[in-house]
Amino acid sequence: MSTTWEPVIGLEIHVQLKTATKMFCRCRNGYGGEPNTQTCPVCLAFPGALPVPNRRAIEETIKLGLALECTIADRAIFHRKNYFYPDLPKAYQISQYDEPLCANGRLVVPTADGEVEIGIVRAHLEEDAAKNVHVATSGRIQGATATLVDFNRGGSPLVEIVTAPNIHSADVAKRFLQLLRQTVVELGLSDAELDKGSMRFDVNVSVRPAGSDELRTRTELKNMNSFNFAAKGIEREIARQIKIYENGGTVDQETLHFDPTAEESAPMRSKEEAQDYRYFPEPDLVPLHPAPEMIEGLRGQIGELPTARIRRIANTLSFYDADVLVTGGLDRLWAAVVDGGADPKEAANVLANAFVATGINPSAVNPEEFTKLVASRSEIPRAVFDDALSHVGDPGFSAEPYVAQKAVSDASALEPVIAAVIEANPGQVEQYRGGKQGLLGFFVGQVMKETGGSADPRVVSELVREQLGA
Ligand SMILES: [Zn+2]
Repeated sequence: MSTTWEPVIGLEIHVQLKTATKMFCRCRNGYGGEPNTQTCPVCLAFPGALPVPNRRAIEETIKLGLALECTIADRAIFHRKNYFYPDLPKAYQISQYDEPLCANGRLVVPTADGEVEIGIVRAHLEEDAAKNVHVATSGRIQGATATLVDFNRGGSPLVEIVTAPNIHSADVAKRFLQLLRQTVVELGLSDAELDKGSMRFDVNVSVRPAGSDELRTRTELKNMNSFNFAAKGIEREIARQIKIYENGGTVDQETLHFDPTAEESAPMRSKEEAQDYRYFPEPDLVPLHPAPEMIEGLRGQIGELPTARIRRIANTLSFYDADVLVTGGLDRLWAAVVDGGADPKEAANVLANAFVATGINPSAVNPEEFTKLVASRSEIPRAVFDDALSHVGDPGFSAEPYVAQKAVSDASALEPVIAAVIEANPGQVEQYRGGKQGLLGFFVGQVMKETGGSADPRVVSELVREQLGA
């Protein structure tokens, strides 16, 4: 009898806060400066330099903790996490250990099969390490001829969020991460841009026989920076562990580097335990005691969160559409367009497909002008619509000049073009008449091409069908 296996997944997410200054000094906190220009004696760990906590970073962390339904500690302290690495000039990182700012929360993740509650063990504040730049074509440490250190990032405020190991599929893990990212972005804490490293995550994976509640040895996939790679890496790791157990082996506790192109996960090093870091309370900082009025003030700044909006929009659209709109940050624009009279489903399609493809930030779009454009989508040539769409994020964009360019729907103008297309493609005509109805799109496409995209595709489709049916 074969065992059914249940994956057990836990996540650790790091989010860089976009405060004006770093966590314990007044250096500018931000991406993209010339290397080593955003540094001072504190973040370079000169002897005698003392840290001063960034009040804003503490408030932002509490705000996130509230959004994740955490208990906010009435006393929280910083610890030193000791380890030696070139990107850590003090040879310790100021972090939090057993008295974090936020603990015991949850994030409800809507899925197509219902809602899944993911426990949040803690959300704490720490400082980021500097950045090692490996001089090699690969950018990786293997094969590098030298390693340079850029201390600009060193000492930036970082929130670490740790989930309970109660995620049981790669899909839920991915949804959780997307939802968390959207929450963080909406709260204004961080840009959480995966490609710039302002949000990154580690994934712990183990498997156990279904129905058991044991926790078996887990492996860690480090520094993932794509939702899809994370899902892929988790699936691969689940399969690897199941295979080991089914062959009678044991899984080693280790950290794996996931290479999405190599179709495998290579071991990096064995995992450190908490005791290896010799945590002890940071003697240069006093305990934090967030005032209840301050916490309530921050609670008042939190609007309707993504989970609640997915739930609400899924009453109008499918779960899938609601999820895409909300996690893509598109739902406020969608609501404006629908209020302006657009069909909800059509508006969702335009936003989730054509609009997303433009890469325009939804917050840069004027909802009124966008609504006008979407409302006349079927009446203007496709090429004009696409052109307009690529400009909706421009300051002062007006839909008017685009909307004025009506598509050609006049049969007498289109029929000769259609006749020419039919004559030029006898093979496809024969197949179509032989029952291959899917070729209709081919003929419509040819006519659209011949007319430079100015024809109304619905009218073309009708006329083509008529002419081919004869
Ligand atoms: Zn500094």
